[in-house]
Amino acid sequence: MNLKSKGLHKSLLIWAVLIAVVFVVVNLTQLTSKEKPTEISMTEFRHKAKAGEITEVVIDGIEYKGEMKAEDEGEKDIKFIAIGPSGERMMEFLSSNNVPATYIKPEDDSLLKSILVSWLPMIIMIGLFIFFMRQMQGGGNKAFSFGKSRHQMVGKDGNPITFKDVAGIEEAKEELEEVVDFLKQPKVYTKMGAKIPRGVLLVGAPGTGKTLLAKAVAGEADAPFFSISGSDFVEMFVGVGASRVRDLFKSARENAPCIVFVDEIDAVGRQRGAGVGGGNDEREQTLNQLLVEMDGFAGDSGVIIMAATNRPDVLDPALLRPGRFDRQVTVPMPDIRGREEILKVHAKKIRIADHIDFKAIAQGTPGFSGADLANLLNEAALIAASKRVELVTDVELESAKDKVLMGKPRYSMVLTEDEKRDTAWHEAGHTVTGFFTPLADPVHKVSIVPRGRALGVTQSLPEKDRLSAHRDELLAGIDVLMGGRAAEELFMKRITTGASNDIERATSIAKNMVTKYGMSDKLGPLHFGENSEQVFLGRELGQRMHTSEYIAKQIDEEIHTIVAGSYDRVKALLSEKADLIASLVDALMEHETLDRDQILEVLDPAKYAKKMAEEQKKKKEDDIQDDAPVSPEPASENV
Ligand code: ADP
Ligand code: ZN
Repeated sequence: MNLKSKGLHKSLLIWAVLIAVVFVVVNLTQLTSKEKPTEISMTEFRHKAKAGEITEVVIDGIEYKGEMKAEDEGEKDIKFIAIGPSGERMMEFLSSNNVPATYIKPEDDSLLKSILVSWLPMIIMIGLFIFFMRQMQGGGNKAFSFGKSRHQMVGKDGNPITFKDVAGIEEAKEELEEVVDFLKQPKVYTKMGAKIPRGVLLVGAPGTGKTLLAKAVAGEADAPFFSISGSDFVEMFVGVGASRVRDLFKSARENAPCIVFVDEIDAVGRQRGAGVGGGNDEREQTLNQLLVEMDGFAGDSGVIIMAATNRPDVLDPALLRPGRFDRQVTVPMPDIRGREEILKVHAKKIRIADHIDFKAIAQGTPGFSGADLANLLNEAALIAASKRVELVTDVELESAKDKVLMGKPRYSMVLTEDEKRDTAWHEAGHTVTGFFTPLADPVHKVSIVPRGRALGVTQSLPEKDRLSAHRDELLAGIDVLMGGRAAEELFMKRITTGASNDIERATSIAKNMVTKYGMSDKLGPLHFGENSEQVFLGRELGQRMHTSEYIAKQIDEEIHTIVAGSYDRVKALLSEKADLIASLVDALMEHETLDRDQILEVLDPAKYAKKMAEEQKKKKEDDIQDDAPVSPEPASENV
């Protein structure tokens, strides 16, 4: 609706309301202004008629209206009204008593009028309601646009993103080249009789650039880009999700060739009838509508749907059938080279010094997604701006990394000396365990400056990217986590709540070892899902309940064995290193934050001296080459 016609509607409505109000007021005043007639009973009327006191009567249906003589002589006649049946006998009675009577033919329009009068308030109410609804929508409040799709459309001109903006995921880009080509020249393909995939499913962890990739496809092909999130579809109102889908596809068809991007498709596309969610009818309707739409448009309609998820396993198989999302493109976490590329792409957007070694940053950020890296550079730019320096340098990048990995330091939090020392013991426990456990990730930094909710942080980073971890590496990770509590018990002789997060994480690693990686001797190499469906089935079929209960108990026992075993091991190690821990605590009390070299200096002075000497030598030489493997394990920190 354009502005002009909207204004017109508005004034029309105001006029309608005004007229209605006037009408009602007039009607009411008419009624009240009339002299109110005296009500008399039918018997009284007959009596007065016989006595010749009725001077005039008008009979309208069952209403007798007229005038009668007043009680006192000489007074004016009084109006009266009586209700009673009329008929031939009444006519005879009146004429025999010489009462002048007039009969009125029942009015045809009286019914209409009475309906109008009684319904008028209602109509006004409805009118006002509609009026306000329109008002609210006009004001940008979309609360009432129930069925309208909440999609966003970026037109051809508004989407400057191309493949140049996407870095480090070359394979995914290559797979999508074909889609770009089709969008550019659909005729070439349809002439050949080739069926173009209608749906492309982008599978990858959050922040790996799925949305970015879909936008880049549209940008490359110069095609409009529609996007909607799966969670938008699923709303409280029944039927809304389905109508949103319909609406979205309608506009897409009108703008073809184009890309429709459905983010978080698992929010609607979960397997139907799969138990615990309570059988969400609304979601099923939405999913069905999505399937209908996908089947509905012909291959040459030029609409290509791209959807993103990080849980392809929970999707309804119907979605993955040929002719629907039959093509899957994996969007992986970037490896070290990918991270370097991504950093370079985003570094162009900020004012950054040109001597920055992006390779080194990429090396120090295993497990970072594209979004994390973009965030890292942005944080660095924010820090540089707040310091009022010209360019982002290594210094800002390092503080940005600390902030991203460990949270913002809270210098304002006042801790007593005792509290600080407690934290130092705890963190020293993590650090020393990490230092003397060969398979554990090296400790990168330890700090007793409170950050976020944590009082202190020990942060380890893997040396290299890792594709998989073996059993002993996982156990080493658990050891480092238990190190905090073990130090509390050994050296403080009291335990604090500070280890709750450590324990939770250690338990979860142990649980995965037992239930997912098949690393328990007792239970063997089996997967024990916590899939909701299985739980559901187990509840329904009483017999399976027994098996699962038995297994659950065994799983718990195995987890306990792993964590308790680790705790004992760590306590033994730490009692041996009691002196070193004490020195580390002193260093922490003095400096609050220790980096890798400072830790080395305390825990292994000889090695530290050697390293320093080597570094001096190396400074004169030039770069060293390194390889580029990959990692699924994110950087870890032990709180
Ligand atoms: P997803 O949809 O996979 O959750 P997004 O596409 O929304 O991730 O990524 C968020 C942001 O992270 C992007 O806008 C971009 O700035 C950055 N990003 C993620 N991956 C990449 C990449 N491969 N290359 C460049 N930037 C990326
Ligand atoms: Zn801890």
